[in-house]
Amino acid sequence: MKTVRYFTLIVFLISSFVFASPNCPQNIILIIADGAGFNHIYAADYYTCAKKGQQPFEKFPVKLAMTTYSIGGSYEPEKAIKDFNYVNIGYTDSAAAATAMSTTTKTSKGAIGVDANGNKLEHIIERCEKVGMSTGVITTVQISHATPAGFVAHNESRKNFHRIAKEMINQSGLEVIFGCGNPLFDNNGKRLDKPDNFEYVGSQKIWGSLIAGSNDKWTLIQSRQEFLNLAEGQTPERVLGIAQAASTLQQKRSGNSIAPFDVPFNQNVPDLAEMTKAALNVLDDDPDGFFIMIEAGAVDWASHGNDSARMIEEMTDFYNAVDAVINWVQSPKSSWQKTLVMITADHECGYLTGPDKSRFVISNGKGKLPKMQWNSKEHTNSLVPFYAKGRGSELFVDCVKDKDPVYGNYIDNTDMTKVIFALLEQKIPAKK
Ligand SMILES: [Zn+2]
Repeated sequence: MKTVRYFTLIVFLISSFVFASPNCPQNIILIIADGAGFNHIYAADYYTCAKKGQQPFEKFPVKLAMTTYSIGGSYEPEKAIKDFNYVNIGYTDSAAAATAMSTTTKTSKGAIGVDANGNKLEHIIERCEKVGMSTGVITTVQISHATPAGFVAHNESRKNFHRIAKEMINQSGLEVIFGCGNPLFDNNGKRLDKPDNFEYVGSQKIWGSLIAGSNDKWTLIQSRQEFLNLAEGQTPERVLGIAQAASTLQQKRSGNSIAPFDVPFNQNVPDLAEMTKAALNVLDDDPDGFFIMIEAGAVDWASHGNDSARMIEEMTDFYNAVDAVINWVQSPKSSWQKTLVMITADHECGYLTGPDKSRFVISNGKGKLPKMQWNSKEHTNSLVPFYAKGRGSELFVDCVKDKDPVYGNYIDNTDMTKVIFALLEQKIPAKK
C-alpha cells in the first residue's frame, strides 16, 4: 500500500515537473537598437575593434534578418537587390514596429498598442504579468516615447505623450520604468530655472506626487548615483527612474561631434549599461521571472541627423548594455538555461551604406569612423538583424519566411513575439 502511494506521488511529481518546466524561459530580455540596420552594427564593430562579428552577441546561435514593415506593407528580396531606392518607401515607424513586436499585430504608423481600427491589443508585458512575471522597460530617450510606449500603453497616437506617460505610470503593472523626459533638466543635464514641460512624465500633478514621495506605487530615482546604487543589494519593489536630462541621456547634448566622444558627456546621468544593471537587479527578485525591453533609443535620432559620430556613441552604449545583460545571464543569478535574450532593431534609419552606395561600410581601423554614407534622413524598409540565445531561442528558426540574397534567412517582427506567446502558454498562470 505504502509503495503504491509513493509510486503515485513520484508519478505526480514527475508529471507536474514536466508540465511546470517546459521550454518557457524564466526570464525574457529583449534589446532594441532603435534605427539600427546591419551597417550600423558593422560600423560600430569597426569602430570598437576593427573587425566585424567579434561582439559576444554576434556569436549567438540564432542569427537571422527581420522584416519590419507596418500594416499593408511587404518586403520583396528580389526588388530590394535590383532597385537601390526600393527600401526608401513602405517603411514603418517606431510606434507600429514596437506594437508589432509587443502584440504580434501589424498596425498603422503612429499607433501605440492598438490595431489599425483603434482596438486595444494585448501586450507581451500584459501576458507576462498574467503568469506572475515582473516587467520593465528602459530607454535612453523619454520613457513615453514610441518604443517603450509601444510595449506598454494603448493610444491612437504616439504624440499623446502625457496620456501615454499617465497610462504607463498610473495604470500599468510595470515594476521598472527608466528613461529620460525629466521636466527639471535640459539636454545638457542642467537644472532649469522654470520647468514647464511635464508631458513626458504625465503631468505636473503626477510629477509632484512622485517628487513628494506621496505616490504609493513608485519609488522615484533621478541622479546617476541613485541608478548606480540599485545595481547591487536590496531594491524597492517598483522603481521609476527619470534620469536628469530632458530628451536623451547624451545624444542631444550641445556641441558638434566630428569624432565619437569628442564632446564631453553629461556627467549626471547613467549610461544604458548602468540602467540595465539596476533594472535587472530590481526585476530579478521575482521567482516567477521577468520580461524587460531595453532600448537604445537615440541610435535612431543620430541616424535621422546623419550624425556618424553620435550614432557610433549610441551604438557603443548599446553594445555595453548588451554586455551587461550577457554578464548577468552568465552570473550565478541566471543562466542560458533559464533566460532568453533577443537583440534586434525596430527598423533601419538613415539608409546607411558604404561609400558611393556600395553595400557595406568599410573599416578605417579601430577608433576611427568607418567609410560610410547616409542615403536618407528617414527610416527604410531594409531588413534588420535579429540575434537570439538561451532557452527557447531555437524556435525562431522555424519562423523563417524566406531567404534574402544579401542578408540570408529572415523572419517577420511579429514572429518574434508569436514564439514568446507560445512559450508563455506553457507557464502556469500566477495565483495572486
Ligand atoms: Zn526614427
